[in-house]
Amino acid sequence: MKTYAIVCKQDPQSLSLSEKLKAQLNDILIYDEEHPEMVISVGGDGTMLYSVHKYMDQLERVAFIGIHTGTLGFLTDYQRDEYQQLIDDIRKGDYLIYERHLLEVKTKEEKYLALNEVRVENNRRSQVIDVYINDDFFETFRGNGLCVSTASGSTAYNKSLGGAVINSNAGLMQLSEIAGIHHNAYRSLGSPLILDKSHTIHLQSQSYQGAILGVDHLVIDLKDKDSIDIAMANQKARFLQYKRVPFTKRLKRAYLRS
Ligand code: NAP
Ligand code: MN
Repeated sequence: MKTYAIVCKQDPQSLSLSEKLKAQLNDILIYDEEHPEMVISVGGDGTMLYSVHKYMDQLERVAFIGIHTGTLGFLTDYQRDEYQQLIDDIRKGDYLIYERHLLEVKTKEEKYLALNEVRVENNRRSQVIDVYINDDFFETFRGNGLCVSTASGSTAYNKSLGGAVINSNAGLMQLSEIAGIHHNAYRSLGSPLILDKSHTIHLQSQSYQGAILGVDHLVIDLKDKDSIDIAMANQKARFLQYKRVPFTKRLKRAYLRS
């Protein structure tokens, strides 16, 4: 690995950490913002999402690593007081590449990739969505919206929706409801549904007025005629792994111990 770039959250602590990293890394690597082989994300999980989206058109070549300056950090391997260890590990160069699965979402006009999730949300009125799985009508959903998350995103929005936490290297996607309405007249599955790469989820509605398409941290206004197709993407995001943090340890660190 010869070139690197830093994507930094714009707060004083992250900016100062980023300067410290640069001061030492410039001895061993070349800073190249346009075509880096390594991208160091300094900030939170949101910064890591931003980093992956920034280099989404170079995923075959770029590898990501994160250092967290906030409270926890699920997508980042290093805590802020471990920055010297990160530099030493980069210097040693002893790493593995760890691939995270992505989702691909297509609307009529656009195509996006997501690391965490894709969601259709409407807070103005109840959103009616006909859900098809592999072209087969599955259910009509009514409520605030639907969320389809990756394994990496299972600890993010999906978790707040009561979805399952999934080991991060699983090539699975999870469809969860956002405040679904369930009674005699309106029936949808209700429980989170886990699917794999053999499935395409098609979301169709008479009207998406007032609804948004959320793709990780991005928000896109939906148009009435939009139809939405979500499937596991062929592309993956490559993460550098210098130290192995077992998935269950990561979970405990983030959610169970203070
Ligand atoms: P944000 O409002 O800062 O994100 C909400 C929280 O989710 C933050 O604590 C963020 O960590 C954390 N997070 C993001 N990805 C995660 C992951 N893969 N596993 C565990 N926690 C994760 O907004 P943001 O930083 O731009 O992140 C966008 C993400 O926020 C979306 O992809 C969505 O998953 C999540 N979100 C969650 C809810 C909810 O739970 N009700 C609502 C909207 C959006 P940091 O503080 O380190 O950034
Ligand atoms: Mn954030």
